[in-house]
Amino acid sequence: MKEKSTNILSIDPFYPEIDKIMEAAEIIKNGGTVAFPTETVYGLGANALEEAAVKSIYLAKGRPQDNPLIVHISSISQLEGLVEAIPQQAYILMEKFWPGPLTLIFRRTNKIPDIITGGLSTVAIRMPNHNIALELIRYSKLPIAAPSANTSGKPSPTNSSHVIHDLSGKIDMIIDGGSTGVGLESTVLDISGDVPTILRPGGITIEDLLTVLPKVEYDKAIEMTNTNIIPKSPGQKYKHYSPDAKMVIVRGNIEKIIQRTTELCREYEALGMNVGIMATKQTYEKYQNNNILIVGDRELPETIAANLFNVLREFDKIKVDIIIAEAVEEKGIGKAIMNRMKKAAGGKII
Ligand code: AMP
Ligand code: MG
Repeated sequence: MKEKSTNILSIDPFYPEIDKIMEAAEIIKNGGTVAFPTETVYGLGANALEEAAVKSIYLAKGRPQDNPLIVHISSISQLEGLVEAIPQQAYILMEKFWPGPLTLIFRRTNKIPDIITGGLSTVAIRMPNHNIALELIRYSKLPIAAPSANTSGKPSPTNSSHVIHDLSGKIDMIIDGGSTGVGLESTVLDISGDVPTILRPGGITIEDLLTVLPKVEYDKAIEMTNTNIIPKSPGQKYKHYSPDAKMVIVRGNIEKIIQRTTELCREYEALGMNVGIMATKQTYEKYQNNNILIVGDRELPETIAANLFNVLREFDKIKVDIIIAEAVEEKGIGKAIMNRMKKAAGGKII
């Protein structure tokens, strides 16, 4: 691929400078690619209605063509023409959770190019809760297709340096708008069938959804225990969020986790490996290793969500051979944290 000159533009995340937004919007209108912050992770955006523009997203990321993209909008009226129908439940969900980290799956129209949906008859749409993202969509006057702005397979980017590391020279512009808030991707919810089904756990939890819906299920493939089940969300079948190092997750009560992590650390070190420990505020003082990174506070799991991808990338920088990561409880946002950690570890849980 021919090297591009990537313009890096700093924009205020709370009060975006409109002249700068217009410069970025011009690139989108002309079929270019712009990485921008959202409240979940950084996205790599292009005009969702132009096939060639969307193609350059897949190229820059090295993303498999059958892994569909999420279309980002800034107002509910933009749904018109993009989706076949808006189910009643969608109105309730949009009212409660948009703008926010909830992606809804709708039946699509032909206006959406096949390349976005990997040929599926549905399309994923969300309204991000971030002023830069919203203004960029508004000033482009276009729906913007945007997957996470990382090299396919790597941890998603939660600040502009992650994007620069992965995509500099491959896209037209990177907007630096500071660190993202949630730190994990949106929840993907399929409302095209009878029972709303979570295809990917994310920023909005099942507990949140159940405050407005009578019933919500998880797609069976999310648990990754039965590999015969084909996930309804094509992206869930790929290797994901992977640091360079191997990773194992240690699960159990906190005493057990500390004990097992300490033992494992010794075993790996005896094999001559450089070991990293992904610890929490409550546990890090119990370990003696040189490469301990604190991912967050067990009492405030949203701090772990916000830091997880950054910590995985930090372990790559210090070049550990193996990461021993402490599991968190799989409730609330913990469900999404563990989903990403299990994928990063290729399912290896002790
Ligand atoms: P990313 O944008 O990198 O966070 O990935 C988008 C996620 O949304 C992937 O896991 C996709 O498989 C999923 N997705 C996008 N469109 C659809 C769709 N029409 N049906 C099911 N899943 C989808
Ligand atoms: Mg992604």
